[in-house]
Order: sequence, then structure tokens, then C-alpha cells
Amino acid sequence: ATQTCHPQSTKNWFCWGDSAVGKSSLVLRFVKDQFDDFRESTIGAAFLTQTLPINDELAVKYEIWDTAGQERYKSLAPMYYRNANCAIVVYDITQAASLEKAKSWIKELQRQAPEGIVIALAGNKLDLAQERRAVEKSDAESYANEMGLLFFETSAKTAENVTELFTAIANKLPLQE
Ligand code: GDP
Repeated sequence: ATQTCHPQSTKNWFCWGDSAVGKSSLVLRFVKDQFDDFRESTIGAAFLTQTLPINDELAVKYEIWDTAGQERYKSLAPMYYRNANCAIVVYDITQAASLEKAKSWIKELQRQAPEGIVIALAGNKLDLAQERRAVEKSDAESYANEMGLLFFETSAKTAENVTELFTAIANKLPLQE
């Protein structure tokens, strides 16, 4: 669906990825600028909204579906991406398996999601890079480039690159139809 953009414009986007990679934490950091070390894992999907100013005249309202990554919820996924303008697929830089899961989500998205959807790959928990990095940035980045995805390493904990991630997505969305 095409949308005319003005400050009340609505873009649907959602967050996707394996359990405990930090999807909810990224959304919480973006929406409320908070971080909670002991938050409970998402059950099903949580719904949040946020308005992000693009420039002096323009803001885009996002509707955020933060879906849980558990296998048992996988069948719900098409419900979210059917109407999505953009998707953030998240992995945890300390868990190599979470990048493999992310790659399979991305494959499904590129096959099934609406044309023109903006997809970003986010390697979260960047604050743990020195002690526990298991995925090299260059590996994930070259995969992302190959697939035509935006790519950022982020930390919901320290807020590093979180605004940059959301802003880069906003800047890639077609604002005028
Ligand atoms: P989700 O299941 O993907 O939504 O993951 P959560 O947002 O529930 O986060 C899972 C766990 O990882 C929680 O204990 C968070 O506090 C922690 N976490 C999330 N993001 C970060 C991060 O950037 N750095 C660190 N060190 N921990 C994080």
C-alpha cells in the first residue's frame, strides 16, 4: 500500500529475531530511552508506537510489532510482515547461532514480504564485544551488503547506534508517493 507522507503518516515496521537477542530492549531503548537488565522475555507480540522526526517539517509515526522469536510463534509472522514497510531483524553478536536464525528470517522476508520493504540487520549487545564477541562485524556486514540490507551493530544497553539504526531506516523509506 502506498502512503502520502506528512507528520501523521503511518509506517508499519516490526522487529524480528531469535529469543533473547534484545528485540524488546532495542524497542524500549528507542521508545522510552530506557534499559532493563531483568526484563521478562516477550510472549507473543508486544505493540508500541513511536514518532520519529525526520527533519523540521517531517515526522514518521511507527507502529512497532515486537514479535517473539520462539519457533512456536513463527506461524504468526506473516500477519506482521504482510503490512510492513520495514523490518529490523536482530541477532546477538555473542551468539553465532542467532545470526544463522536471522539469515533464515531474512530469506523468508525477501521471498514473502511486500515489495519495497526496508530490511535492516542489527547485531545487538555491542557492549559485550570485547569479552564475548562470537560474530565478526565484517562477516555480518558483507552478508548484509550482499543482501541489500541496512546494517548496524547496536547496544540497547548503552544506546550505541540505536537512534542511528532507526534513523537510517526512516531515511530509506519512500516518503512521497
Ligand atoms: P528479546 O527476547 O529478543 O526481546 O530480548 P530481550 O529484549 O528480552 O533481552 C534479552 C536479555 O538480553 C535481557 O536480559 C536483556 O537485558 C539483555 N540485553 C538486551 N539488549 C542488550 C544489550 O544491548 N546488551 C546487553 N549486555 N544485554 C542486553
